[in-house]
Amino acid sequence: MVCIFVSRDTFPEVLYRKLSEVGLVKAYNFGKPAWLTVGIPKEELKRAAAECDAMVVFVGDIVDSEVLSHAKNLKIISTVSVGYDHIDVAEAKRRGIVVTNTPEVLVDATADLAIGLLLALARRIVEGDRLIREGRAYDVWGALMGSDIKGKRAGIVGLGNLGTAIAKRLLAFGAEVVYWSRTRKPQVEFALGIKYLPLDELLATSDFVIVSIALTPETRHLMSWEKFSKMKRGAYFINVARGAVVDTEALVRALREGILAGAALDVYEEEPLPHAHELTKFPNVVLTPHIGSAAVETRAKMAEVAAENVVRFFRGQRPLYVVE
Ligand code: NAP
Repeated sequence: MVCIFVSRDTFPEVLYRKLSEVGLVKAYNFGKPAWLTVGIPKEELKRAAAECDAMVVFVGDIVDSEVLSHAKNLKIISTVSVGYDHIDVAEAKRRGIVVTNTPEVLVDATADLAIGLLLALARRIVEGDRLIREGRAYDVWGALMGSDIKGKRAGIVGLGNLGTAIAKRLLAFGAEVVYWSRTRKPQVEFALGIKYLPLDELLATSDFVIVSIALTPETRHLMSWEKFSKMKRGAYFINVARGAVVDTEALVRALREGILAGAALDVYEEEPLPHAHELTKFPNVVLTPHIGSAAVETRAKMAEVAAENVVRFFRGQRPLYVVE
């Protein structure tokens, strides 16, 4: 009987139902709300790697070479996410283990959140909410002046599915959209009317910088102090990709030195972001707890795709999305 380990028992029900078609599902029970922690204990992952044929994991479940060294019969790792930086894909490949993910179905929800964060920053929505809850006096004319989006330049760092979806939304707001990406995308430039710029030029001229690039060894700390110091003074910075694309200390320095008018983040180098972290001290910083794809319908689709990847694999078909 095929053994399928699932790293939590709180995924949408469809995931367990589908997986049961091809094997015996063993779901890990956190024993406390999963959102109080990120990822399951390494010992559990090692045990799963040793005992099971398939593992279904989520962001924060670190499947590194140490975990994989315990793999005996493991054949497939299916992550319920598009990002797979929590999995040592090279080591998995070396061992003949297939890695699958769930791109596309989460793009719109995450792009929506990016726009939500951008609007929250530009129009100081969270500060306004705080002001009212704290019962502070304000003058309706002059309080919490923000920035237009129309006519401003928005620079997208990493034009994959997510970056493209963010670009489309920003164009609808009347922003001028520019991008930098590893691979230039002439078709997208042509179709959307957006412009490619070298990264430094994008940073120096954009009023909003939105990071939507995958985390890889090449992009780790891409946003270093050297990059932040080149940004246009008074720009807004948004990261919905992965925390480690940004050097957090450099970001804090850019905020402290007034290079940035504000920052909005959904992802952090360390998750959950430690309580009372330096970033929480800035009124002009908006923080969300990695909720890019956290919409009921989107998560259900992700769960279905992650399960379908495994089901296809054990039926001898190619999974929907294999990480190459
Ligand atoms: P995607 O379509 O696969 O795009 C990946 C992007 O990363 C592309 O821009 C690609 O550049 C770039 N990239 C990949 N490897 C690179 C490398 N070695 N060096 C430089 N650039 C590299 O994925 P997506 O749907 O756009 O998502 C992008 C990332 O957003 C995901 O990897 C994930 O970490 C993150 N994400 C976060 C949330 C959330 O909850 N906050 C939700 C969804 C996604 P080129 O195409 O130009 O080569």
